[in-house]
Amino acid sequence: MREEKELKLDTILARCGVNFDSKTGAISVPVYQSATFSHPSKGESTGYDYSRSLNPTREALEKTAAEIENASRAFAYSSGMAAITSILPLFRSNDHIIVSDDLYGGTYRLFDQVFSQFDLRVSYVPTDNLEEVEKNINKNTRAIFVETPTNPLMKITDLKAVNELAKSYDLMTIVDNTFLTPYFQKPIQLGADIVIHSATKYLGGHNDLVAGIVAVKDEKLGEKIEFLQNSIGAVLGPQDSWLLLRGLKTLGIRLDRQEQNAKEIAGWLDKHPLIEKVFYPGLPEHPGYEIMNKQAQGYGAMISFTVKDRSLVPKVLNKLNLISFAESLGGVESLITFPSEQTHGDIPKETREKIGITDELLRLSVGIEGVSDLIYDLEKALEGGKNQ
Ligand SMILES: *Cc1c(COP(=O)(O)O)cnc(C)c1O
Repeated sequence: MREEKELKLDTILARCGVNFDSKTGAISVPVYQSATFSHPSKGESTGYDYSRSLNPTREALEKTAAEIENASRAFAYSSGMAAITSILPLFRSNDHIIVSDDLYGGTYRLFDQVFSQFDLRVSYVPTDNLEEVEKNINKNTRAIFVETPTNPLMKITDLKAVNELAKSYDLMTIVDNTFLTPYFQKPIQLGADIVIHSATKYLGGHNDLVAGIVAVKDEKLGEKIEFLQNSIGAVLGPQDSWLLLRGLKTLGIRLDRQEQNAKEIAGWLDKHPLIEKVFYPGLPEHPGYEIMNKQAQGYGAMISFTVKDRSLVPKVLNKLNLISFAESLGGVESLITFPSEQTHGDIPKETREKIGITDELLRLSVGIEGVSDLIYDLEKALEGGKNQ
């Protein structure tokens, strides 16, 4: 696919997997549902030996993932958490990592309750504040792990600045790009070393699979990660690899619609008398708005907001008809969650409250439905909750 003329992202996405199977000309990559592959003779291989090491369907996905993230290599895993787990053995005990203080609850749990047992040291730092990041760098620091926008408070880190800071101390930067995807933000172009995705979310886009991606700039680092992927074995199966490729084809048009809906809903929520605060980086008053304009091509479709009265939360959740009360995000179906009990329940209450994940906070993942239906649903739930 790589010609002299650089292809548009939409073109790469729409045509992902096409021509992979040149023998049959299949437009859709076949699902190579085979654990193992026979060898033509001793000392010879078709290039495929065993599906944990390499499976053709997963390979087509990994090539696409690398291409869209401007990476040299990408790897597919059975979940976003499997992806993160599979790169952490790049570090050793007593190595220190600086991690965004507001981040996906499962990532926090992995550092806090699993890798802490192997003495991986972590500092949770507001990475939107570079001075704080620099203050926390010590002689054992090896990496900075950033989410931007953060989950769920939508804080924005200046990726170029943090990557430059990291380079000056010889640290690696790892960016969880789940919320924006390469359609809106390309961390490797901004200097990051590793990009992570929960592909369960926007990349898959249909709430029908769980998957993870790691994309890496440097080929040498790619070889280490390939070794870890095969050694740990948390790979994505061929069926889900196929489903993810299928989802990727429409990433651009899904995100355009989701973002358009989100902008409208964020503006509407912002003016609603029962809403205290809206966290959406596409609102000009959002503290990260200028940085978003500089480093991203869109604002995404995740909105968090606080209601004025916490007693409204259960009422609103019960009264929504269309928007589903469910964990996860990024799919074509709109979902709403209550982070302090669900996605971020493993973060101690005190820490949660300190960073702003309060009992008034709701997180909305805006889908591709008709926006007037979504607003009608929210309006009815808020009004109905108030009058109860
Ligand atoms: C969901 C999520 C993860 C974890 O991914 P899974 O696919 O659920 O394992 C990691 N980071 C972010 C930002 C997420 O939203």
